[in-house]
Formats: sequence, C-alpha cells, structure tokens
Amino acid sequence: MILVTGGAGYIGSHANKELNSAGYETVVLDNMSYGHEDFLKWGVLEKVDLADLESLRNVFQKYKIDAVMHFAAFTYVGESVEDPQKYYLNNLRNTLNLLQVMNEFKVRKLVFSSTCATYGNPQEIPITETHPQNPISPYGKGKFMVEKVLEDYSAAYGLCYVSLRYFNAAGADPEGDIGERHNPETHLIPLILDAAMGKREDIKIFGTDYPTPDGTCIRDYIHVTDLADAHIKALKYLENGGKSEVFNLGNGNGFSVREVIEEARKVTGKKIKATETVRRPGDPPILVGSSDKARKILKWKPKYDDLSQIISTAWEWHKKDN
Ligand code: UDP
Repeated sequence: MILVTGGAGYIGSHANKELNSAGYETVVLDNMSYGHEDFLKWGVLEKVDLADLESLRNVFQKYKIDAVMHFAAFTYVGESVEDPQKYYLNNLRNTLNLLQVMNEFKVRKLVFSSTCATYGNPQEIPITETHPQNPISPYGKGKFMVEKVLEDYSAAYGLCYVSLRYFNAAGADPEGDIGERHNPETHLIPLILDAAMGKREDIKIFGTDYPTPDGTCIRDYIHVTDLADAHIKALKYLENGGKSEVFNLGNGNGFSVREVIEEARKVTGKKIKATETVRRPGDPPILVGSSDKARKILKWKPKYDDLSQIISTAWEWHKKDN
C-alpha cells in the first residue's frame, strides 16, 4: 500500500486519485486541519497528525506500507514569515517524525513535495535543478532543510527518495471530482475565478513595475493532474531501483499576471475587473523552471500544457464548488 500524507489536500488528493487509477491501494493520512472530507474519494483515511508518533506507528503497524508520498504541509508563504514556528514544527519536525517511523518499519521509498521556493530569488531563467538554493521564506527554508535531511538519511539508512520541486500548481481534475479549495484563498487563478463569478469585486494585480514585458510577475503554471502523474512516475522510478533524485516540475512557459487574467476572461466569457496595486512582499519577478530532467529520466510530459486548459479545468471545478 502507498501512504499518502496530506491526501485530503489539493495536490495530495489528485495524486491519490491517480494512484488508485493506476491500480495502487492507498492509505490517506491527514489531520484534516486543511483537508477536505469530500476529497476523500479513494483509499482509506487515517485521521492522524504527524506530530503524534504513537498514532503514526499504529498506522505503519496496521497496513503494509511499501512507499510514502508526503504532501502534508502548511503552504502559505506569507504566514510562514509571520509565524515561522508553525511552519518548522509542521513541515520540518513532523517530516522528521515520518522519516523516523518509516525507518523503524523499514519503509525505504519516499516521494517528497518540495518547491521552487527552495531556490529563492532566481539568478537565471529557466531554473534548473542545479541552480543555487537560497530560500528566503521560512516555508522555502523548511522544505530546503527537509531536502538536506533526505540526502543524509539516504546515505545513512538506505532511504530512496525523489524530491519534486513544484512551480505554480493550478487547474483541477478534468473529471470534476476534486479541485482547488483553500481557506483563505490566496492563489491567483481561484481569486480571478471568484471575480469572474461575482464573488469578489475585482482581482488585485500585485505590482505593475516589475522588470517584465508588461510589468507584472511571470510564473510557470503546471496542471495539478500533471503533477499527480509525475508522482506516479517518480514512484515507479523508485520501484525500479532508481537512485535518490530531485526534479523540477513545471511547464517551462511563463505567463504574466495580466496574461493569466486575460486568458481567464476568454475562458469564462466574463468581464473580470482588474485593479492595479502595490507589490506583495517576497515575490520574485520571474519564476520559470526547466523540467528537462524529469522529462528525460522519469519520461514525464505534461498533458495540460497550455494555459487555457489549466484555467478551463479550474473554471469547471470552481463553478461546481461555489
Ligand atoms: N497575484 C496577484 N494577485 C492576487 C494573487 C496573486 O497579482 O490576488 C500574483 C502574485 O503576486 C504572483 C502570482 O500572482 O506574482 C502568483 O501568485 P500565487 O499566490 O498564485 O502563487 P505563488 O507564486 O505565490 O506561489
């Protein structure tokens, strides 16, 4: 069985669905602090917090776990600056707990959710896996620290892992079973779609004076189902004896905030009011990743690689979920 921590969250639930479609049995481990009951459509749920070592051991006792996909984490970069302890305890210490119990039960395969936030401000674009890592937020630093811990545990205890550094996860399950739902919502595409539905008056553009062609930030949006697919490929890679590795996951195409808003107007057919405002602290002007390594070694190829597909799956979900 595959243990999917954070399997009731956005990316974890999409991976859980793909795992089950690929014929794997899954146990979802989630404390349900941010997870959604209605995303638990596949596998069994163990409502456990990774802070609770005894309950965690019980889960490993109860099921024969072959590998772990570790999604469970807090993900608000801004909040991590205001309350770093919350992030280091949950994202770092609780990951150490998970690794400890995996080691006790001799579970040696791990796919870890890392992030492009481990790079900090990019020195060159596109960002490759060898780009220096100088994370600037406690969120990015915590994920970076876990990557380093994994290197040491791999050398000492025979752990085999794949760290996947996601760029901007977006879109929703094309079959409409699950999608993106955050509370509070801070991400660009769902906020634009709220404005399209009239739930918000406008979308705020955070900064129009960046050194980019239209002055707004450029990001690499990657469809959540493509991310999920990369996890299955990473798992199979480990099952086939692949050595520990890290991979970027992005489309390699950058879109500015204005371009995303314009595409959302086309997809939804709605007037979406955009209001220009000041920069959000900590946003680098451009984040675009090269995922050539994942394409080559994992034979991964994003299927939803144009922005209109990403936004239209998000829009279908958004209408259903609101
Ligand atoms: N953004 C924006 N208005 C919003 C939310 C986000 O202009 O209401 C911008 C943000 O500054 C960034 C991009 O959209 O440049 C993507 O932000 P998001 O929070 O979705 O993802 P992040 O890049 O922070 O992971």
